[in-house]
Amino acid sequence: MPELPEVEITKQGIEPFLTGQTIEKIVLRNLQLRWPIPRKLRTILPGLKIASIARRAKYILIDCSTGWLIIHLGMSGSLRVLSSSNEAPAKHDHYDLHVSDNTIIRYRDPRKFGALIWTTINPNNHRLISHLGPEPLDDEFNRDFLYQKLRTKSSSIKLQIMNNQVVTGVGNIYANESLFHAGIRPTRRANEVSRPKLERLIAAIKKTLKRAIQAGGSSLQDFYLTDGSTGYFQQEYMVYGREGESCHKCETTIKSITLGQRSSFYCPKCQK
Ligand SMILES: [Zn+2]
Repeated sequence: MPELPEVEITKQGIEPFLTGQTIEKIVLRNLQLRWPIPRKLRTILPGLKIASIARRAKYILIDCSTGWLIIHLGMSGSLRVLSSSNEAPAKHDHYDLHVSDNTIIRYRDPRKFGALIWTTINPNNHRLISHLGPEPLDDEFNRDFLYQKLRTKSSSIKLQIMNNQVVTGVGNIYANESLFHAGIRPTRRANEVSRPKLERLIAAIKKTLKRAIQAGGSSLQDFYLTDGSTGYFQQEYMVYGREGESCHKCETTIKSITLGQRSSFYCPKCQK
């Protein structure tokens, strides 16, 4: 599933191809994504100038001057940049956005959980986005903020940092890895984690996400992104997916438990 780093890389990847361009047309082949793609995009979009591209949580926001396209990649969505329409669309290529210099942005999504939404209100006030917590890489996501947010929460720290209303975009891999780096057991009650440990946790979340974005960014020269299964985000994990293997730090056997239907991995010695 595309996580925040993949979405950020996708945003960075399409940005130079779209910013400042005028939309020529959108070709819609299949409207049935998570919500139906509005047919009216065929008449609304032509002639609109793309002012900027932004990301909020796992949404890509394309400012089309009179409104915004909101793109979500769902479980298996990806955007690719094509330089001409020579390449015939494949089965799961649901829409193409054509801009003035013949560039085409093509959306592929085998599982069809993605979304393409048009809004004329500021996307930060959109119902999908307005309730979200801060971005993990913003300064607003800091120790005092998290302490205040968690002081009344007795559920596990892992479920809390994966809760979009606490902080957006910390998926399962990054939650597992960050908790390891901070030395916190995933099952620890959120309101029992000390401020110094929260500080370490926040630093670990930021570092893990930044590293993943950099790893993806280094593959951008030949921008041809990104199917959710590509290998280039595969990194050396400390605990994620390593049940039964030995800890890279202390050689204790890594354990796995299920929390909120997601697998959690931890080192019983390094994480308390
Ligand atoms: Zn260990």
